Amino acid sequence: IEQEYLDRHPGSRALYERASRVLPSGVTHDSRYLRPFPIYADRAEGACKWDVDGHRYIDYVVGHGALLLGHNHPAVTAAAAAQLARGTHYGASHLREIEWAEEVTRLVPAAEVVRFTSSGTEATLMALRLARAATGRPGVIKFERHFHGWHDYVVPASSYAGRTPPGIPSATLESVLVLPPDLAAVESAFAARDDIGAVIVEAAGASSGQVPLPRGFLHGLAEICRRRGAVFIMDEVVTGFRWAPGGVQEVEGVCPDLVTLAKILAGGFPGGAVAGRRDLLEYLQFPGAGPKTEKVGHPGTFNANPLSAAAGVACLREIADGTHQRRAAELAASLRSGMNAVLCELGIPGVVYGQSSAFRVLLAGTMVPEAQDYNGRELPRALLETPMPPERARLLQLALLNRGVQLFGTGGMLSSAHTAADIDATLEAWRA
Ligand code: PMP
Repeated sequence: IEQEYLDRHPGSRALYERASRVLPSGVTHDSRYLRPFPIYADRAEGACKWDVDGHRYIDYVVGHGALLLGHNHPAVTAAAAAQLARGTHYGASHLREIEWAEEVTRLVPAAEVVRFTSSGTEATLMALRLARAATGRPGVIKFERHFHGWHDYVVPASSYAGRTPPGIPSATLESVLVLPPDLAAVESAFAARDDIGAVIVEAAGASSGQVPLPRGFLHGLAEICRRRGAVFIMDEVVTGFRWAPGGVQEVEGVCPDLVTLAKILAGGFPGGAVAGRRDLLEYLQFPGAGPKTEKVGHPGTFNANPLSAAAGVACLREIADGTHQRRAAELAASLRSGMNAVLCELGIPGVVYGQSSAFRVLLAGTMVPEAQDYNGRELPRALLETPMPPERARLLQLALLNRGVQLFGTGGMLSSAHTAADIDATLEAWRA
């Protein structure tokens, strides 16, 4: 597999050698690292991207989940191009940021008001700060393997197997309590400590739904937070606008105090947001303009950047009726069950599962599934928490790249630009 990969990708290999001289590990995002080297993208269109060696890939990275409409959707491209011609940074307030916030408040149930950031990481950082400002309590509960970006408060400590992640002050780590997704554990934590001001949770479960939450968990968390006076933050950076126009909170009918958004929000451009209860966002208001006497600071050169705002508005208007989400989710379901059918037929232990338009491949365990779709909840938790052996995961990625399919790690997401023909071609590559 690796030899074939080396032979097929001389252009990417040369670029990686060049990259390694100026970029640590040759990459710009941890998840883009792949031995012996990653492919180098040259262009993208719809559900596909092409590399510098001229190979075409069915793309299941879809902009790390940002491209629900696929690459270069005409409405988004036109809006961005029109904005590009009118300036990319005004350093001033502008109409698009108002329209953008209006779309968010229209679609996302919890969003009474919105503050834009440049990324999802900044959104979760701000959400936690607002929660601390409002409660005066510094403690945060997060859940095992739940990902919220890379700032100091949410570094996935579990990936360091009990060791201290390098570069994070111990005081910061001590303020964050990492719990299993279990309501009893949350209750005991509140009973044991009176300094917890916020609970943050990935809306579909750890790592974009790789470990789904127990049924009723979100409602339970909301109730505990209400009772304990803590701020309930749902991180919908991945699920927002994808699970439904209003995200998981719309699907499950649960209303968080704050919600963090990014990815689809900005139509494939950089951008994030924290949205939610007016009285919490009011901590961003200037004293005198609102009831609060002290303000939470929030500068940010690229906050509500006009280009991101224009693309975001176009994207959110396009996805508002739920058609794109349904289409992507239907295709994902047929991909998951098709992949499981191949595993069954060939007697290969493993399972492909996922929710909405996301999927995860797990070639591990002894389980040969039925040839059907699994959302993950019916699978044993221990199985879901078992990572695939890293070398197997790597070879799977290389083997599929050799056959024109790019996974995102050991899974991926779909866009509404994917087609039934893309699913068939993926299943053929999977079988091979
Ligand atoms: N929260 C979740 C649930 C995410 O999946 C991510 C990114 N994958 C983030 C936050 C961080 O967003 P960003 O990469 O835009 O900083």
